[in-house]
Amino acid sequence: MTEKITGRVYLIGAGPGDPELITIRGRELLRRAGAVLYDHLSSLRLLDEVPAECELIDVGKKSGSHSMPQGEINEILAGCAAKHEIVVRLKGGDPFVFGRGGEEIEILRRYRIPYEIVPGVTSAVAAPAALGIPVTHRGSSYGFSVYTAHTRQSDLPDIDWSHSLEHETAVFLMVVASMKAVTERLLEHGHPADLPAAVVESGTMPEGRRVTGTLSTICELARRHRIGSPAVLVVGRQAAVDVRCSYDQLSGCRIAVCGTASFVDRTAEQLRLRGAAVERLPVLKVQQLDLEEAELDYIRQATWLVFTSSNGVQSFLSIMRRHRYDMRELGSVKIAAVGSGTARTLEQKDLYPDYVPRVYTVAALAEGLAGRLSGLERVALIRNREGSADLTRIFDRYAVEYRDFPVYAITPDRLTVENFISRSDYFDYMVFGSSAGVRAFFECGGLCGTHCIPVSVGPVTAATLGRFSSGRIITASQHSTAGITDAIIRDWSCKN
Ligand code: SAH
Repeated sequence: MTEKITGRVYLIGAGPGDPELITIRGRELLRRAGAVLYDHLSSLRLLDEVPAECELIDVGKKSGSHSMPQGEINEILAGCAAKHEIVVRLKGGDPFVFGRGGEEIEILRRYRIPYEIVPGVTSAVAAPAALGIPVTHRGSSYGFSVYTAHTRQSDLPDIDWSHSLEHETAVFLMVVASMKAVTERLLEHGHPADLPAAVVESGTMPEGRRVTGTLSTICELARRHRIGSPAVLVVGRQAAVDVRCSYDQLSGCRIAVCGTASFVDRTAEQLRLRGAAVERLPVLKVQQLDLEEAELDYIRQATWLVFTSSNGVQSFLSIMRRHRYDMRELGSVKIAAVGSGTARTLEQKDLYPDYVPRVYTVAALAEGLAGRLSGLERVALIRNREGSADLTRIFDRYAVEYRDFPVYAITPDRLTVENFISRSDYFDYMVFGSSAGVRAFFECGGLCGTHCIPVSVGPVTAATLGRFSSGRIITASQHSTAGITDAIIRDWSCKN
C-alpha cells in the first residue's frame, strides 16, 4: 500500500436492525462520511443518512458463493482512508460481538491508519429484549453468556456445554443452520428437556417474530414456523418470559408506511404511539428545485402563499435560505395550507397559517380560498412540480390571479421497494399517503402481502390503489395521519 493516509476509520456498530438503534455518535459520523463499507446489515435504512456524494461499498456482496475475502475488505478500507477524511466501517450490532472487528483493526494498525471504535447495541441482548425476553432477572437469571453456534473450524464451538443454565441465560448467534446440533448437544450434556428455549427472528425489526418452546421442542417449532436468518436462540428460564406491552391499541400490529420521508415519519410516529411495529418505506425521494430571482419577486408581491405539503414548506424555506431571502420580506402575506401536517410544519417555523380548510383536499382549499379573496389578490402556489390540476382549475374558474411555483419534484426510490419485497408477507397493513406513493411502490415491483390490507389517506389515493390491488382497501375518513391511525385502530380492534 503506497497511498498516503489522510482519513480516519470509524468502526461503528449499526445496532441490531431498527435503524434508530444506532448510537448518536454513529449517526453523526454517517452523516459526514466520505465512504461507508457495510455488509449484512439488517436494515439498509441507515444508509439514507449518508451525504449524497458518499461512496457506498457493499463488502458483503457475494461473489460466487463467498462473501468478499477479508484481505480484499482490508485493502478497500486502507484505500478509502487515503481518499476520504471520514471512512465508516459499519457492522451489524456491536463490532466486536462476532463482527470480526478485531481483524480489521489489525490491518489498520499495520498501516498506522488512525481509527476509532464506536460500540453498538448488540442483537444478543436487543433481539430477545425487543420480543419480550430480558436476559437477566433477579432471582431467575444472574447472568448470560453469548455464543456463536458456528465456527470456522467445526460446526459447533468448543465451549462447556454442561455449564448449568439453572440460573443463567445462554444466547446463541448464527444459529439457524445448526439449531438441531446445538439443542442436541445441550440435551446430551444433561440439560433438562423441558428447559425453556425461544428463537427470536429479526428482533427490533417490525417483522420480528418469536417462537417459544423447550430444549426438546424448539427445533421442530422453528422449522414449522420457517424461522430464518437473522435469529438468536435463547436457552434458560428467561426464554419462557414475555414482558412485551400487550395492551396498546395496536399491540402486535405490523404496519408498513409508504410515501415521502416526511409523510412516513409523521405517520410512523403516530402509529408507534399506539404500540404498532412500523416499517418506514420512503419510496418517494424529494428533489429540491430552485426558483429564479424573478419568481422570488412575484412571491415578494404576493398576498397569499399556498402550501399543499410539508415538503413544499421545507423546500421553499431552503430556497429562501439559499437566496438569503429574509423572513421580513414576506411582510404581511397571508398563508393557506392543506392538511394538518403542512400546517404543523409551518408552525414549527413560526409561520401560523391564516387558512386551513376543514377538509384536507386541494379542491377544498381552492374553493375556500377563492371565496375569501378580494379582486386585488395575487396568489403564489408553492408546491410539487406535478401538483394536482384540481387546484389551478378551480382558481381559473374563479379568475383568481395566481402563479404556480414548483419547489420540489418527487422521484421513486426503487431500492427501498426492492429491499422490502421479501418481507412484505409479515405485515398487517400497508399505508399509502398519496397516489404518487402508490405508483412508486407498485411500479418498482412492490407487493402487498396476501394478508395485508392497503390503507389509503383519502379517496383519490384509494382510486389509484384500486388499479394495483384487487382486495379490500381501507380509506381514512379524515384525510390525515390521525385519520389513518383511527381507521387502522378500528379495523384492528374488530379482528383482535
Ligand atoms: N455483531 C453482531 C452479530 C454478528 S453475527 C451483533 O452484535 O449483533 C450475526 C448474527 O447476529 C446472526 O446470525 C444472528 O444470530 C444475530 N442477529 C443479528 N441481528 C439480529 C436480529 N435483528 N435478530 C436476531 N438475531 C440477529
